[in-house]
Amino acid sequence: MTGGISINILDMSTNGLSSDEIIEVRKMLAQQIKNARSNSRHKKCMLCDQVGGFCNSHTIPQFCLENIAWNGKLNSFDTLIDSALLNKDSGINNAGIFHIICRPCDSKVFQDYEKAGAYEGVPSEAAINQIVLKTVLRDIYKHETEIEMFEASKKVMKEKSPFLSFFVNMMLEAQINARSTDIQECYDIFNRAKDFLNTHESWLRIVSYDKLNFTVPIAFQGMVALITGVHGEVINNIFEHNGEYKMEYLHIAVFPLKQSTAIILFIDANCTRYSQFEKYITETSLENRLEIIGRIIFLYTEDYYLSKQLDENIIKYLQEPAKIIHDMATFNPRRSIKKAVNEFDLRRHNNIPNIFTKEHAISFEQEV
Ligand SMILES: [Zn+2]
Repeated sequence: MTGGISINILDMSTNGLSSDEIIEVRKMLAQQIKNARSNSRHKKCMLCDQVGGFCNSHTIPQFCLENIAWNGKLNSFDTLIDSALLNKDSGINNAGIFHIICRPCDSKVFQDYEKAGAYEGVPSEAAINQIVLKTVLRDIYKHETEIEMFEASKKVMKEKSPFLSFFVNMMLEAQINARSTDIQECYDIFNRAKDFLNTHESWLRIVSYDKLNFTVPIAFQGMVALITGVHGEVINNIFEHNGEYKMEYLHIAVFPLKQSTAIILFIDANCTRYSQFEKYITETSLENRLEIIGRIIFLYTEDYYLSKQLDENIIKYLQEPAKIIHDMATFNPRRSIKKAVNEFDLRRHNNIPNIFTKEHAISFEQEV
């Protein structure tokens, strides 16, 4: 229902609510999301400046989602949160959509990356630049809507419980500030990717490209500010709020194809803090690399889509990291980076199952 809008600061437990009340809260939530979307609406297409007429842009290419969908349905982060307030699954047409560019731009600008043939071998510079552009457009849309949601929650809280509102206000303010910084960084990345649209040069460097000969049960594209890698080093100090300090993002694409999968990691070629991590990723075995990529996706992100064929038991294990993200809503900004490095050390999370194995591959025969 949230369509990828991260509202995990809100309490999603429904203990003590009657089924009528749950329906009411669901309606209220849907209305709030609708209002937030309309309040954060852009006037012009982000790519060509034409006024109005936005289309439904998809982040992950449709052909990838189709390969893992079951009767047009997918599981998402909301499925893992398992709340009666959220939908249990997502329709392929609603997965990862945003509305800030026009139809002509959507169908023209992303052609290199939105075709299965682009992943026969290492994808072109144009393709990975377009992946970044689409990811960042989705993130801008998402964070701008989230800010509107938090602003609306502030108002509701003030009216309903003035006593509580001081603390809730502080928490919401912290969230709004964090999202605003994210948005600024997104705009920088957006401008960079847009500048490189019609050139043959690249500002990105591929860290790893793996092609598997089976279809993995997950589709993902996104960017992550890794806190640490596998050596206890600080890659991004997320508590550093000095304007000079820039987050460095790792871009990830997991594209399930017919009987194969392309998995690509890449970074801005000017990144300076990923060298240890990059060395590990390129030198370790394929199995270790895929395991680490899976841990990053489940520990840091919520924009992935999962096949409904994925075993119930696996889903249970994936709920734990999803809940860590959920709990990050109460993130204390004064918590030390040392503690965060320890918590996010990718070596630690060996309870996250590696779903990039043949054992979990999509079986196309079972399709109805
Ligand atoms: Zn346009």
